[in-house]
Amino acid sequence: MPRIAYVNGRYIVHAQAAVHIEDRGYQFADGVYEVCEVARGHIVDMPRHLARLKRSLKELSIAWPVSEGVLPMLLREVVRRNHVVNGLVYVQVTRGVASRDFVFPANTNSSLVITARKADPAAAAKRAETGIKVITVPENRWDRVDIKSTGLLPNVLAKQKAKEAGAQEAWFVDADGTVKEGGSSNAWIVTRDGVLVTRPAEHGILRGITRTTLFDVAAKLGLKIEERGFSVAEAKAAREAFISSATTIAMPVVEIDGAPVANGHPGSMTLSLRQAFFDIAEKSPA
Ligand code: PMP
Repeated sequence: MPRIAYVNGRYIVHAQAAVHIEDRGYQFADGVYEVCEVARGHIVDMPRHLARLKRSLKELSIAWPVSEGVLPMLLREVVRRNHVVNGLVYVQVTRGVASRDFVFPANTNSSLVITARKADPAAAAKRAETGIKVITVPENRWDRVDIKSTGLLPNVLAKQKAKEAGAQEAWFVDADGTVKEGGSSNAWIVTRDGVLVTRPAEHGILRGITRTTLFDVAAKLGLKIEERGFSVAEAKAAREAFISSATTIAMPVVEIDGAPVANGHPGSMTLSLRQAFFDIAEKSPA
């Protein structure tokens, strides 16, 4: 059964799916994207992801590639055609194909690509049992990381550096020593007093959808959240640390730059949040 991709109005065998060489996504990273988790046959938090897509498009003055209301149907259709029960669905919109010129092209349609991929939930559960390691890297991204742009080169380099160090994520750290977020995730700690701490999302980080839903989960579990910056030193000395993203949910961090977090084992609050997440997140049948 071949994988199927949606490319500008057509369903194409994934291996043959392609966009034009002058697509502005390819030439300028002039595009935005979203990744939604698919869990037990449901697309998780799709309305929130599509609302953020809308915001990203608006911030960059990229036109909708299709009418807004059609997108949920297209995401569901790609998930269905690929028989994804657990995995992810990826949607990317670029400013479209035009002769190479920095300024916006006139009369060009935005490009839309949607793909879906299966993932093994057992592998993620196993990873959560052991936790992940992170390294820290100096922040070197532009200041509009609130836009979910496909321009991800600093993230690519940071995550490659993490991999080479035997870690699974890299945390960008500000000049003042505070943790911003991961290369593809938000960063959290749990203080010695059991308070969840994560950086405010007004500026300097992507407002993660999983982060937003974890606020709902924490409220349901009666946990206290403080939105404030925290330093690398505070994270190393914390009771727990974890990352959040659509594909990792809440994933324990057990080591930062080679130093263990607490006793070096996944924290119980992180695992409770992870466990409760699916029940509380919005689930659209795929
Ligand atoms: N920050 C960055 C830089 C990311 O790439 C991601 C993942 N897309 C996140 C945070 C987490 O966002 P979400 O929970 O919406 O996946």
